[in-house]
Amino acid sequence: SVNNKHIPPGLLEATAKHPCYSFGAHHKYARMHLPVAPKCNINCNYCNRKFDCLHESRPGVTSEILTPQSAEQKFRRVKAQIENLSVVGIAGPGDALANWETTKESIERVKAIDPEIIFCLSTNGLLLPEYYHEIISLGIKHVTVTVNCLNPEIGARIYGHILYKGKRYEGETGAAILIKNQLEGIRLLAENGVLVKVNIVMIKDINDFHIPDIVKKVKELGAFMTNIMPLIPAPGSAFENYQQTSMKELNKMRNQCQLHLHQMHHCRQCRADAIGLLGDDRAIEFAAETAGRIP
Ligand code: SF4
Ligand code: SF4
Repeated sequence: SVNNKHIPPGLLEATAKHPCYSFGAHHKYARMHLPVAPKCNINCNYCNRKFDCLHESRPGVTSEILTPQSAEQKFRRVKAQIENLSVVGIAGPGDALANWETTKESIERVKAIDPEIIFCLSTNGLLLPEYYHEIISLGIKHVTVTVNCLNPEIGARIYGHILYKGKRYEGETGAAILIKNQLEGIRLLAENGVLVKVNIVMIKDINDFHIPDIVKKVKELGAFMTNIMPLIPAPGSAFENYQQTSMKELNKMRNQCQLHLHQMHHCRQCRADAIGLLGDDRAIEFAAETAGRIP
């Protein structure tokens, strides 16, 4: 069931070219991630900060970090060499909003070159109430927020601490602030015509039983779809010895949740510097081209 309460006219037509939001686009349209967001303001137990943000990618790869200037150069090169480049996303390696100035400048630079590009952002949501209006005024229509639970007791098992307005909050206190901001942020974005995709990392015995509740709640807040992702424990993270979620369990959950809200079934958990079609990533090729030129 597609949640289209607040969707402005024309947005679904544009979204048909977004390889993540539209299954039909994923063999045809390419996306490019600009790894301009190195910092993060929370600490997920499944994350090892040497790797990319797991909310959007898998452990084991580290993306190069680009400045807005070098991101612009890379965009020009990729656009010249890749057909049907429709989407530019900021997906880490940390949190897009925790690096707002570089995120914003990178988007503005790309937009000046190609106003047709669809932009997307992925975030843990902590700073959404603070930045949602800037996101909207930048013209971003696709935002991914990772929501792993609705209550602080579960949250305290998933998040170590958060850094918020200059203070550090741990355990349930930190999780409560994070969850509140995520949910408020989703509502604010959806009400303003942004298509919100909610990523959920499925962690056995910690939040798996609770996932249908998350899906129902974010649907109520106006989310467009959810993307339930397997836990892939990063070496060196607090969850390093946890079991990886099996595809069988994952698909069962997705099918169950599909009854409530549209589900993404084709996510590849791409790198923060992913380039190209979803099934045919060319990040390495283009990263090699920029090697030695990164400031
Ligand atoms: Fe790591 Fe992403 Fe969580 Fe930040 S939000 S701690 S980068 S997984
Ligand atoms: Fe799309 Fe998933 Fe890759 Fe993000 S991680 S670009 S949602 S396929």
